[in-house]
Amino acid sequence: MTTYPHLLAPLDLGFTTLKNRVMMGSMHTGLEDKSEHFPRLAAYFAERARGDVALMVTGGYAPNIEGWLSPFGSRLASSGAAKKHRQVTDAVHAEGGKIALQILHSGRYGHTPLSVAPSKLKSPITSFTPRELSVRGIERQIRCFVRCAVLAREGGYDGVEIMGSEGYFINEFLTTYTNRRTDEWGGSYENRMRLPVEIVRRVREAVGKDFIIIYRLSLIDLVPGGSNWDEVVQLAKAIEKAGATLINTGIGWHEARVPTIATSVPRAAWTWLTKKLKPELTIPVITSNRINVPEVAEQVLADGCADMVSMARPFLADPDFVKKAATNRRSEINVCIGCNQACLDHVFAQKMSSCLVNPRACNETELNYIPTKKRRKFAVVGAGAAGIATATVLGERGHEVHLYDSADKIGGQLNMAASIPGKEEFHEMLKYFDAKIKATGVTVHLNTRANVETLRAGGFEEVFLASGVTPRSPKIQGQEHPKVLSYIDVLHHKKPVGDQVVIIGAGGIGFDVAEFLVKGEHSPTLNLPEWLAEWGVVDPSVAPGGVVKPKPTAPARKVTLLQRKPGKPGAGLGKTTGWIHRAELKSRNVEMLGGVNYEKIGDEGLYITFGEKRENGTWLPADNIVLCTGQEPLRELEQPLRDAGMKVTLLGGADVAGELDAKRAINQGSRAAAAVA
Ligand code: NAP
Ligand code: SF4
Repeated sequence: MTTYPHLLAPLDLGFTTLKNRVMMGSMHTGLEDKSEHFPRLAAYFAERARGDVALMVTGGYAPNIEGWLSPFGSRLASSGAAKKHRQVTDAVHAEGGKIALQILHSGRYGHTPLSVAPSKLKSPITSFTPRELSVRGIERQIRCFVRCAVLAREGGYDGVEIMGSEGYFINEFLTTYTNRRTDEWGGSYENRMRLPVEIVRRVREAVGKDFIIIYRLSLIDLVPGGSNWDEVVQLAKAIEKAGATLINTGIGWHEARVPTIATSVPRAAWTWLTKKLKPELTIPVITSNRINVPEVAEQVLADGCADMVSMARPFLADPDFVKKAATNRRSEINVCIGCNQACLDHVFAQKMSSCLVNPRACNETELNYIPTKKRRKFAVVGAGAAGIATATVLGERGHEVHLYDSADKIGGQLNMAASIPGKEEFHEMLKYFDAKIKATGVTVHLNTRANVETLRAGGFEEVFLASGVTPRSPKIQGQEHPKVLSYIDVLHHKKPVGDQVVIIGAGGIGFDVAEFLVKGEHSPTLNLPEWLAEWGVVDPSVAPGGVVKPKPTAPARKVTLLQRKPGKPGAGLGKTTGWIHRAELKSRNVEMLGGVNYEKIGDEGLYITFGEKRENGTWLPADNIVLCTGQEPLRELEQPLRDAGMKVTLLGGADVAGELDAKRAINQGSRAAAAVA
């Protein structure tokens, strides 16, 4: 008996059978762009095929240069290029997997001067205005889609996914918001939907019956003037008739101002839309977005929301997701926490993707945790992100590891992150590491402040010092006033906080504290109807595109957030999530000020001035002032250990406190442990 009978049931597609109901959704990793990276790409996909996911979809490949996302980005347009894909598809098939190539035409989202679209309308998130296609130009694009699908088959793929959502080329034809044409490709809905239907019909004609065609359909555009529900259903039916094998779900255009996959989006937040669509079709429907654990995926299928579940980032976090679920090892699944920090944020910064919780993702050919030939004994001091990553990788490799922490539980600052409304997924990370510590045989010494004597007496070959950070003092006149609190007082010690609060420092922690204080104990992430109302999301049969005026909940306190740097606070937050944090605070009337000098603290509150000339001095009244002014390394043990002749490696915040986050800490710790001989 399996715990996940729906998830693990095979799916018969007629000409082929998928071994379970799990698809790894398309993700651009950066490895697609150059064929010299294909050996890495092959290893990445092969590992996931070995983990028993039924079907995988590659990152997007443009069918021609007009469809490029960025200059010289991934493209499949020749037989020579198709041959190179064989190393990827052969590696997947050797592991018993199936893989489809995603055909992605960027349309007006192309970051190139070659971009084309139904109408000459620039998107708010790109700097180029697309060229409006002529009728012949549209025909040419369709032929390129068909050629790309045929080449994918030549390259050994089991199918293609035609990207029809997220506001890219095909999606742009569907709505009058981006399609102002008056010819046979614009105007009535029949005309606007002609492009995707023609593409699917002609692709099916060209590739034959025994080839998977997934069509990714936008179920809710989340932009004003987007498709209404009748149009979505009409298109889905036409796509089925045109020959698609599977319908996959797309949620929201990239320019939408509603988060769709970030950690603060409730789990399975969009499955009600696939549930609504499924009875209209006979082909299987795939649901997606913020499904990251097998019990949620199972429930979604059991509830009849879809026939299959697509998860993308969860397979960066853990290639063995399906295998572990199938063999009753749920606690061993390394859960994607939806942070975007090492995946999407990297892609936007033109860096290779990886994963915050699994630095091996996309690095499978160079970062491996090889079993040791000689078991050695190590101490790791500090059970925060860097420490637990180091300890578990050392343990996994077969070393004897002793992990020390003065707290009564593992996790360090991760525990504070988990207490922020909207960051509940951090609990999964803590649970995973707890299980991993047990599975790898690491001996944990909690409530234990390691010192030189114990470490010397322990006979350790090396000490990994991941002792973390201590809050930086901003040295403001009067900061010893009782109304001044540190972020640790607020988030960890849960000291009472008044109704009017000034936060000094607007980095990641300043924003976290602000969210904690304005949301109170309450997390909209845990209540789907409230979350949808907060972001103004409704059924697309109520409003086209499924968006109306947001209704945020009232703030629990009056909060002011300050930084010394001029400019808007939050500029240094993650590319794909910073805007969400700023929007959430703005909707709760948080005042955010930059270019501030902190002059003094007194009974009245905080006295500030502005700019280099220290002008416009004013008192900001406050019941409490919370210091979120960064950290300094905590490494008091380093020198005494070295003096005692011990080998010491500094990790995480103990190494460099500035801009420390869990991504850097876990990556550094894992790599240090992998490098030990
Ligand atoms: P941080 O991001 O470095 O921010 C520190 C803040 O304090 C800045 O606003 C800085 O801006 C201010 N500051 C620095 N020195 C100061 C001084 N002497 N006096 C007054 N203000 C000072 O550090 P953090 O907020 O403590 O976060 C620590 C790390 O955790 C960061 O790397 C952060 O990215 C990460 N984190 C990330 C997230 C996330 O959601 N991704 C959430 C929490 C934490 P000014 O100098 O302009 O005032
Ligand atoms: Fe998930 Fe974060 Fe890893 Fe991306 S970096 S896959 S969002 S855990």
